[in-house]
Amino acid sequence: TLSKRLQLVASFLPKEARFADIGSDHAYLPCFVCLQDEHATAIAGELNEGPYQSAKKTVGDLQIDDRIEVRKGNGLSVIKPGEVEQVVIAGMGGSLISTILEEGKDKLLSVKRIITQPNVDADAIRKWFDQNDFQLTDEKIIEEDGHIYEILVGDRNSEYVAYTMENKRRELLFGPILLREKSTAFKQKWKIELDRKKHALKQMENAKTPNIERMNMFQEEIKEIEEVLENE
Ligand code: SAM
Repeated sequence: TLSKRLQLVASFLPKEARFADIGSDHAYLPCFVCLQDEHATAIAGELNEGPYQSAKKTVGDLQIDDRIEVRKGNGLSVIKPGEVEQVVIAGMGGSLISTILEEGKDKLLSVKRIITQPNVDADAIRKWFDQNDFQLTDEKIIEEDGHIYEILVGDRNSEYVAYTMENKRRELLFGPILLREKSTAFKQKWKIELDRKKHALKQMENAKTPNIERMNMFQEEIKEIEEVLENE
């Protein structure tokens, strides 16, 4: 069965989805979706030969190659303009995901929904959505097998406004919806982040030539996380 993480990602696809899964690896997600919904179709994109072959094997073994096409290439270069309505990019860093979106902008004109699951740097995706007419309409944070995962959903030209005027900078970093929810997984994630930063700061203090500017930056970030965790 599919991981809880990828099932949650899949749950944001509409019925009869026409989507691309970029960086699909084994193509587990598109196979799961297309087996559940006989009208769904997908393109599984992979940059690397090994995962590309794995994806072809999964799709072939399950005999759904009539509805899932596996293509090899970088990011959104594997899709033609107009081909898909939803894009999934999961299991990579947020910076890489936003680079893929930025470099493939011309392929996104027909895309109504982007579902991402960044392993780190989710804020890079929130910022990209914000600057490119995709409104952040949903966010999830879950824990699975000792890892914490965030899922961000962006819809083109949605009326939904997730951010507040006063707090947008902070909301871009922590996630406006996640910040309001403050779930256990959210608190867990930021507690880990806080400890990591405190540890790094201590090491900087002990350095022969401390980088004061960098230390101040870390101090600010630590203060901000503490504020968020205290405000309940
Ligand atoms: N999406 C799957 C998931 O969430 O379980 C697989 C995640 S896996 C950690 C990341 C995959 O992205 C790898 O298979 C890698 O080959 C692929 N990848 C990395 N950069 C890519 C790019 N620029 N375009 C397409 N695929 C890429």
